[in-house]
Amino acid sequence: MKTILVAGGAGYIGSHMVALLVEKGYDVVVVDNLCTGHWQAVRGAKLRVGDVRDAAFLDRVFTDDPIDGVINFAAYSLVGESVTDPLKYYGNNLAGAQSMLTAMKNHKVNKIVFSSTAATYGEPEKQPIEETDRTDPTNPYGASKLAIEGMLKWCDRAYGIRYAALRYFNAAGSNTAVGIGEDHSPETHLIPLVLKTALGQQAHIGIFGDDYPTADGTCIRDYIHVRDLAEAHLLALEYLDRGGESGPFNLGSGDGFSVKEIIDTARKVTGKPIPAKVEPRRAGDPSILIASNQKARQVLGWVPHRGLEEIISDAWTWHQSHPQGYGK
Ligand code: NAD
Ligand code: UDP
Repeated sequence: MKTILVAGGAGYIGSHMVALLVEKGYDVVVVDNLCTGHWQAVRGAKLRVGDVRDAAFLDRVFTDDPIDGVINFAAYSLVGESVTDPLKYYGNNLAGAQSMLTAMKNHKVNKIVFSSTAATYGEPEKQPIEETDRTDPTNPYGASKLAIEGMLKWCDRAYGIRYAALRYFNAAGSNTAVGIGEDHSPETHLIPLVLKTALGQQAHIGIFGDDYPTADGTCIRDYIHVRDLAEAHLLALEYLDRGGESGPFNLGSGDGFSVKEIIDTARKVTGKPIPAKVEPRRAGDPSILIASNQKARQVLGWVPHRGLEEIISDAWTWHQSHPQGYGK
């Protein structure tokens, strides 16, 4: 494997993937339409600006470079928006994946690592969540990702395209050496919003509900460093290259932290007071989501190395040095 195609490589997680591949000596071709990504985030790779749903464009990309494997991050991923505009999500996420798989079939590329999500589980039946647990998404975003996992399964059987569907829990952190980080607009994720509050860009951080059945009443999530995530993708690609069996893999730390614990850790890391106010629950938030990462550890040999303080500290370095994201 020498040349890797990264779709959505100008986005948050994708750009960290590109940085790791470049560091490891791979040739990287990024395909991105920059709808939420940033050209400035792509370092050391060839950027081809275009839409994965554009079959003729993808055909040129696969013709111009000898692609050995694909990592597909390209998607829309705002849960709330997916509820009000489900067709936008099926239209981009599902159609984009279908178009990518078609190009792979036509060009005889037989490995894909795909960005799935913990949102495929919906309300979990138990904690920590295992890959074999029930999948029953509670929003169209999660449903679109689960539908793609189904498409991947059938494409494996029919065309021999092997896949790893990586179900991420909560990605956060940055790559301080390369100088890339999280820049979503609008930003909806907890850690960047807490740090924007520390920077004084908003008056307080809203805590969405403190009456959940958890120790301090706030929701518990499993936060995973974006660099640990990127390392898992590379291991998954190598696993598929060795002939490993297709399937889903949870990517989380295996530890859960409440919203209040995140804010307290951010206060400690930044030395800022970070005002917080309890607000109503956000619709559709499960109270606890914690990954079992046993399968990724055992099958891929993945070990997440970076804990919560390092996640928040790296994110803080990024937000302090880029208060307006890639805009400045
Ligand atoms: P992001 O929005 O920063 O990155 C997505 C990238 O894909 C962007 O650069 C965007 O411009 C590009 N893109 C979207 N549609 C495209 C299209 N049709 N053609 C070409 N490019 C297109 O998102 P992210 O936070 O980096 O997430 C990456 C992936 O991981 C997504 O698939 C998301 O659903 C999944 N995911 C993210 C998280 C998280 O915590 N951030 C958690 C679970 C799953
Ligand atoms: N959250 C919050 N305030 C915010 C943003 C998020 O209390 O301003 C909570 C949210 O309800 C969830 C957790 O923080 O319990 C993580 O939310 P995020 O949007 O970062 O990720 P999600 O788990 O929804 O994918």
